Amino acid sequence: MIGRFAPSPSGFMHLGHASTYLLAWLQVRAAGGRLLLRMEDIDPQRSRALYADAWREDLEWLGLHWDQEVPAQSSRVSVYLEALRQLQEAGLVFACHCLRKDMNDAVRAPHKNWGNYPGTCALMGFPITDSVALRLNFAPNALVLRRADGACGYPLAVVVDDRDQGVSHVLRGQDLAESEASQVFLHQALGSIAPQCSHVPLWHGPDGRRLSKRDGAMSLRSLREKGWTSEDLMGYIAAAMGYLAHPEGCRPGDLLNAFRALPVRKEPVSHAEVLPLWA
Ligand code: GLU
Repeated sequence: MIGRFAPSPSGFMHLGHASTYLLAWLQVRAAGGRLLLRMEDIDPQRSRALYADAWREDLEWLGLHWDQEVPAQSSRVSVYLEALRQLQEAGLVFACHCLRKDMNDAVRAPHKNWGNYPGTCALMGFPITDSVALRLNFAPNALVLRRADGACGYPLAVVVDDRDQGVSHVLRGQDLAESEASQVFLHQALGSIAPQCSHVPLWHGPDGRRLSKRDGAMSLRSLREKGWTSEDLMGYIAAAMGYLAHPEGCRPGDLLNAFRALPVRKEPVSHAEVLPLWA
């Protein structure tokens, strides 16, 4: 089994990420597999080296160690463009003239990439040039493979990376579940086998919305500054996942047996379940 941590270094890690990454770590460690770390810094405008360093530091602090860091996405653009050429030759790409703002969203936020595309340009047969956005001809998402300004789309990068790095298992947040069908299609189109995917519950804030990198209060940095230890946080996550009856300090390795024995919970984790952390 080969799994991966694949953070987008556009902000700090929060408790919801920690929960997802703990489960990804448990999945791979329970099977005696290898765990990769890959910085998904394909968006040049939002990715920052300081955030990438902070992710490495926070993962280590939590005791979620990886076996190898593979090249960051920003260093692999030529490989993605080669895959794009392959898709183009297979007739799976169309030129799209929809608004630039939509295109920007597409490269930026992985969870925003998978909305249904109305199909406006799919039937128009616009010529493919260097200055036009390119989409995958697969409904309903029609993933953006390349932006009009030439930036590579995140959905292409993630599939090419998983293929080249031999990733066999992906465990990630429920917000990315919608992307699975398109990713399987892309893998097939590129001649690779899609990894087995699991999607795990998100963590919600007091407003009932999922935590985002903007929820500074739940970032590991601020929790640490308030005096919480990594064992404390693991205890809260473990209790929320049903691995412990009460939040008691623990380390990731202590949870391997419980992870093996119990199915992963399905429903989101509400802020009320970890109220002391919000105080
Ligand atoms: N880099 C993505 C994110 O941080 C994760 C993508 C994936 O796991 O497939 O949301």
